[in-house]
Amino acid sequence: MRLVFLGPPGSGKGTQAKILAEKKNLTHISTGDVLRNAVKNGTELGKKAKPIMDAGGLVSDNIILGMIKELLQKTDDDFIFDGFPRTAAQAEGLVKMMAELGIKLDAAVNLDVDDEEVLKRLTGRFFCEKCSADFNINTRPPKVEGICDKCGGKLMQRDDDKTEVIADRLNVYREKTKPVEDFYRANNMLVNVNGTQSFDDVAAAILNVVS
Ligand SMILES: [Zn+2]
Repeated sequence: MRLVFLGPPGSGKGTQAKILAEKKNLTHISTGDVLRNAVKNGTELGKKAKPIMDAGGLVSDNIILGMIKELLQKTDDDFIFDGFPRTAAQAEGLVKMMAELGIKLDAAVNLDVDDEEVLKRLTGRFFCEKCSADFNINTRPPKVEGICDKCGGKLMQRDDDKTEVIADRLNVYREKTKPVEDFYRANNMLVNVNGTQSFDDVAAAILNVVS
């Protein structure tokens, strides 16, 4: 089984991908790991990518696809891509490259979580300004709103967790990945899973659609 996992920040995509990989004995492939390994092992493509990464730039689709191809050539294992493809061009490139290797993607699993739910999940984190204790108003709320249980200090929110910042991140994600979703939908490969259920129910639903 060869899968792609899609889902917005806060959907639990990475953790669900790892759990499914363990259950079904699939290799979990994240592009970050692929890049770091190629650089560490000093492959030709790794040598090309290193100066770009060191300068904080974005490594081109061709380099990333080349690294993934090298990885897939070395193994017969089934796999899950997590965090890749990020653009429609990468999705098309992946189909072509896999065809060259004589293999096919079985499905793109899309964890469906609406914007309102993502915002609720990702803006719930607070910390105490005095003792730094962590709270989450959804999963680990303080006994008194805005006050630390441990020391009575005031609870604060990190700038990165504020609604406007999260909303911006989400908009960028939707803009970029909408064409990826559309690509897989047009090729009858998109499988939607309701990502707003409990974590265990999402895991069960994923297992159900890929079995
Ligand atoms: Zn405190």
